[in-house]
Amino acid sequence: MSFREGVERFVDRATLAAGLNSDTARVIKATSAVLQVRFPVCTHAGVEVFTGWWSVHSTHRLPAKGGLRFAPRVNQDEVEALSALMSYKCALADVPFGGAKGGLLIDPSHYSTREMREITRHFAAELARRGFLEPATNVPAPDMGTSAREMVWIADTYKSLYPEDMNQDACVTGKPENRGGIPGRTEATGKGVQFALQESFRHPDEVARTGLEDGLCGATVVVQGLGNVGYHTAKFLSEEDGVRVIAVIERDGVLVNEAGLNIHDVRQHLVETGGLQGFAGGSFSPERDEALEMDCDILIPAALESQIHADNAMRIRARLIVEAANGPVTCEADEILRQRGVVILPDLWVNAGGVTVSYFEWTRNLSHMRFGRLQRRYDELRGANYLAALESMAAGELPEKLRSQVARGASELDLVRSGLDDTMRSAFADIREVMKRLPKVEDYRTAAYVVAITKLARSYYDLGLVEADQ
Ligand code: GLU
Repeated sequence: MSFREGVERFVDRATLAAGLNSDTARVIKATSAVLQVRFPVCTHAGVEVFTGWWSVHSTHRLPAKGGLRFAPRVNQDEVEALSALMSYKCALADVPFGGAKGGLLIDPSHYSTREMREITRHFAAELARRGFLEPATNVPAPDMGTSAREMVWIADTYKSLYPEDMNQDACVTGKPENRGGIPGRTEATGKGVQFALQESFRHPDEVARTGLEDGLCGATVVVQGLGNVGYHTAKFLSEEDGVRVIAVIERDGVLVNEAGLNIHDVRQHLVETGGLQGFAGGSFSPERDEALEMDCDILIPAALESQIHADNAMRIRARLIVEAANGPVTCEADEILRQRGVVILPDLWVNAGGVTVSYFEWTRNLSHMRFGRLQRRYDELRGANYLAALESMAAGELPEKLRSQVARGASELDLVRSGLDDTMRSAFADIREVMKRLPKVEDYRTAAYVVAITKLARSYYDLGLVEADQ
């Protein structure tokens, strides 16, 4: 079963549970458009022809939104599956976008910065000229193999083609802060994973599913992938929630330390040497596949899709799997894990933080003003007045920590974090509501899909594209 077929199977399961008809399911599953481009660029290896895709899964809301991945093994089935996941993710997170995803077949490590810029700009121009890069319709963001650096090149290409577009900054999200980006976007997916986990631990009835009643603090965690998402997730959880990251899995192997790894230092080593081997603060082994099966409380796949599959699902020992990556558990593995009682916090919910903060960035670009600019000092003044009133009534000063919290206007980062936390909590409330309403839905993934496809179905009914069951 391909990745796309796997995602479609999840939709079918949710369609059945939600009682939607098969026409609705067919309309929801269909990819709206896929653009494939081939373009030549002169590199150190001579003239090379690159292949890229932009898949638009749904356009019931615009722009269609999703990451742009640069990887040596990307293909059309994969970008279609990922674009569908984006539609469902946005619907669940209440982000008013359609779903899209792009891919460029390339191994970025083979090229210099100058070559990467040239290639990215060519790709962006191909997309823009065909209407597949534009603030109102198609807005890429960072994904695997891309970062703020590529987003600047893409935005600059768009601007040179359409200088008259006054919303040009909004043609792409995940830009650096000094080029129209928003504070907190880089770490947004990891922060969202943390908020999701914190939220799931707030509800004793949910915690009872995993038996992790001792809470997040002290829980043992294995993380697969220390890229942007895995790194920030592991860093926030270990530094702020007291989890013990006992193993990190990367391309060259696994690093283990039962007392907990220092994530910042591991990442430093990874960036400097290109691998985990040789890191002094843990024991290294090249057996990375077996490492997924290590004894731990929480397993966080934060790398590629299909890492937990029919062949290893039986041996997974974690009690909770947190899908920081897109599609890390195949449809077959999902079945096996559910039967074994392993709880999965699904990608649709858990990694929605990236696109949620992209939504904030896009809105900010359209408003041409940073969040909080109008009210920050006003709030600060009001806080100071409250404090003065309180202190005159109490005839004494409040503790310094409280004073500084009350007499402080929110920074843009505070607002972004607050909006992200709220989004993750609201999505979980929706998931829980479905599980209460439909007792046959016993897993979070099906419930998340039910929330998402019900919203998509609603907009297709409103448009008259399909008939609702009476
Ligand atoms: N690449 C991220 C994802 O898969 C973010 C997409 C976006 O911000 O548009 O969710």
